[in-house]
Amino acid sequence: MKMQINGKAVDACSGEFFDIINPATGEFIDRIPRGSEDDATAAVEAASSAFGEWACRSPQQRAGVLYRAAELVRQRKDALAFLLTQEQGKPFLEAKNEIEGFANVLEYYCGLAGSLRGDFVPIPHNGYGATVKSPMGVCAAIIPWNMPALIMAWKISPALISGNTLVLKPASNTPLTNLTLSSILSEAGLPAGVLNVVTGPGEIVGESLVESPKVKKISFTGEARTGKRVAELAVRGMKRVTLELGGSDPMLVCDDADLESAVTGALKGRFYNCGQTCTAVKRLYVFESIAEEFIKKLEAGVRKLRVGNGGHENIDMGPLNNLRQLEYVKGLVAEIEEKEEGRIITGGKVSANSAYSKGYFFEPTLVVDVPRESRLLKEEVFGPVLPIVRVKDLDEAIGEANNSSYGLGASIWTKNIDRILLGCEQLNAGIIWVNQHLKVAPEVPFGGTKSGIGRENGPESLSEYLDLKTIMLKT
Ligand code: NAP
Repeated sequence: MKMQINGKAVDACSGEFFDIINPATGEFIDRIPRGSEDDATAAVEAASSAFGEWACRSPQQRAGVLYRAAELVRQRKDALAFLLTQEQGKPFLEAKNEIEGFANVLEYYCGLAGSLRGDFVPIPHNGYGATVKSPMGVCAAIIPWNMPALIMAWKISPALISGNTLVLKPASNTPLTNLTLSSILSEAGLPAGVLNVVTGPGEIVGESLVESPKVKKISFTGEARTGKRVAELAVRGMKRVTLELGGSDPMLVCDDADLESAVTGALKGRFYNCGQTCTAVKRLYVFESIAEEFIKKLEAGVRKLRVGNGGHENIDMGPLNNLRQLEYVKGLVAEIEEKEEGRIITGGKVSANSAYSKGYFFEPTLVVDVPRESRLLKEEVFGPVLPIVRVKDLDEAIGEANNSSYGLGASIWTKNIDRILLGCEQLNAGIIWVNQHLKVAPEVPFGGTKSGIGRENGPESLSEYLDLKTIMLKT
């Protein structure tokens, strides 16, 4: 596959390539152009030239193109999901879910096209105040490998519907689905240059985009450390940024929770996408009085998870996406065993079956009685390992949950309305789930309190891509 600049499929200026590998089998899938500063500059120029015409269209005309794209994506969802599974590793059903999510988000923002307008306010004794919203110009979107299709939609939909043009930099492990989705948008009638995709190393292509004087806004999703680097570069150019960074979401299970649904929630919350979701359940706090029963049920559920190549049938969990992730999870678990920081009750090792030998598989793992200072509770564990901590009551659970440098999501599981209200009020997170975890919807904003800047999804995300002008009017 090639990059997409100004409506054309192109190789990198350098003529260099890099390989995309299937994380379940180690097999070569495709080679991709290794872009550099020159390619990033060409893409920004194309987006800048395309801006005037695209911005002049009415939001409804822009929505017409995006609606057609969503329809084409739905028609081709199986092929797209297969490609996503191949490059990312997730089970085919999860991939299909994500492709549907891409179309849903596109359609949601098409529906908001008619709501793009300013405001008009009478100012006592001084005429009127008005606000006008206009697109910003060229935006850059930098995205990770864990949910490449969905996160692409979160960024391109509000940006394009608002009249901006965009350069997308996919993660180097998962550019294929992004490139295919971008070519579908062209097929649906998106004019050349409105959406450009440049592949290549983040430190080179990503930083060139962030530093380009013509890029007015950067939307980044990824690790907190990379996000800080992006923010530092962006602030030098006084650019607007949206940063969606990591999370270490706590799940609080009270003694009156419906245990069956809490177990299902924990299984999905932790092991969906092999634990590589920013809002995965990464720490579980359960009341002492029900801990034994809950852990026993959860352990039984984990032992039933079918691990394997996401492209095969009846698979619940695929491999990790890359060797770096696998090495990180292996190292972390080895350290827990060495320091005796908790008891591994299931999993804890690389999957033994020879069918897994060339992939990045790690068994779904439960660790109980984890001490408060463990790295398992302090870091963002982006993999299939769930630490469980017993707490005596809700106050202790909330205190432990908030004792983290992250604040993306959190969930509370109880039937008691007072406990629900207390959790919603006191948990320090951008998203609180009640008796569920993980579900996101384009209708409501997504983002964290200590995990970035700004919000995606919902009408709130539109304002991240619009300039606001105030007019004071006296006749
Ligand atoms: P990452 O290493 O930070 O990479 C994210 C993107 O940034 C990739 O496209 C990467 O390109 C690029 N990049 C790397 N260095 C860069 C630099 N110096 N300047 C500009 N761009 C640069 O993150 P990841 O490992 O792909 O993703 C996992 C992380 O994303 C986790 O922390 C997860 O929690 C977070 N995440 C957050 C959300 C959210 O909405 N809050 C959602 C999903 C994931 P290369 O691939 O070429 O290195």
